[in-house]
Amino acid sequence: MTPANAPQAHPQRLDCDVVIVGGGIVGSSAALALARAGRRVVLLERDLCGARSSGVNYGGVRRQGRPLNQLPLAQRAHAIWGRLPELLGTDGEYQRSGHLKLARSEADLAALAHYRELTRDFDLGLQLLDRAALRARCPWLGERAVGGSLCPEDGQANPRLVSPAFARAAARAGAQVLERQAVTTVEHGAAGFEVHTQAGLQVRAAQLINCAGAWAAPLAAQFGEPVPLVSGHPAMAVTEPMPFFMPLSLGVEGGGIYGRQVLRGNFVLGGGSGLALDPLRARSSREALSGLMQQAIELLPALRSAHIIRTWSGTEGYLPDRQPVLGPSHRVPGLLHGFGFAGAGFQIGPAAGEVLAELACNGRSSTPIDAFDIARFSPPPSQD
Ligand SMILES: Cc1cc2nc3c(=O)[nH]c(=O)nc-3n(C[C@H](O)[C@H](O)[C@H](O)COP(=O)(O)OP(=O)(O)OC[C@H]3O[C@@H](n4cnc5c(N)ncnc54)[C@H](O)[C@@H]3O)c2cc1C
Repeated sequence: MTPANAPQAHPQRLDCDVVIVGGGIVGSSAALALARAGRRVVLLERDLCGARSSGVNYGGVRRQGRPLNQLPLAQRAHAIWGRLPELLGTDGEYQRSGHLKLARSEADLAALAHYRELTRDFDLGLQLLDRAALRARCPWLGERAVGGSLCPEDGQANPRLVSPAFARAAARAGAQVLERQAVTTVEHGAAGFEVHTQAGLQVRAAQLINCAGAWAAPLAAQFGEPVPLVSGHPAMAVTEPMPFFMPLSLGVEGGGIYGRQVLRGNFVLGGGSGLALDPLRARSSREALSGLMQQAIELLPALRSAHIIRTWSGTEGYLPDRQPVLGPSHRVPGLLHGFGFAGAGFQIGPAAGEVLAELACNGRSSTPIDAFDIARFSPPPSQD
């Protein structure tokens, strides 16, 4: 990959088939799939690939709990996650450890049972556990959990390893992956797109993919498709290493807290909302951390005296329906969007990237994406 820290004396020009804005897991996966399909692709990343949401997330790789219309993408991603060493040359600490969603009331347990019914066709293998089965399987849980739903093949991975690895794999496959290249202007004309970066680079391409994460809205708006994208900042914390006892990744029905223990012993915990310092930086808030630790100790009493060694947050993009925008522009030929993945983009990102590559190569996706059409935010046609 080519960092371009130093300002260049003369603008550099590149021609390619597809230019991608944003080197998170979505843009990098798209670059990898396009390069493998033989397309000339340039990926422009403002910072370092995987430095934003894709590299600082919790690391949950789960399908359980996702809305039904995201499950085809999630299933496609599940297969890709199973091939990481072959695709990326690393497993990124990915393990199919199982994801256990806990119920803290009988109503929660009923909701988990209902979800299992709704998702039967997707073969998630969900196992419902009552209080006795839960205690037998997870003796380390506190009394608050009354049952749960286990998805044995869901898992977890290290985002700091996985997301940059997609970009490196794309570069090895032939993509030009250019870091520290903030896109400042994009023009579109008969010959396609002309993209300019702050460092003075000019890239021309017939197709452009907008994978700019929480910062993707201006590009969509520029081409006549404004979207109500807002930023969210989940609060995150990690403990000192503890004796290893929890192989599963945990969540709770209704949300509030999630946690996993990495093999080195540290617990990675998330839940509640942090705050933005500015458009690029976010922090966990004191209130969120205190709520998070209270819930963590209730579910995992062994954490009572655990020392928090680091807290952080990140910036993820949300649309009002919590569904991403994934698919072609309806205004500009050759423009594709893939952003707004909210709290699901680490798991489905690799499949979203493949879909974007399919759309760029053949104009169609082999996975259903109608629910993610950007047109759902278009103003209704005028009655005049
Ligand atoms: C704290 C936290 C916890 C999360 N936990 C999970 C989880 O457990 N499981 C899960 O599935 N998802 C999780 N998510 C969500 C997931 O991380 C995101 O949905 C996913 O990473 C989005 O990927 P992306 O490639 O769309 O965006 P990003 O990773 O944000 O990438 C977008 C990239 O575009 C670049 N960019 C923006 N503007 C420009 C420009 N003008 N020029 C060039 N580059 C530009 C940015 O620098 C950035 O690198 C979490 C998110 C956060 C913040």
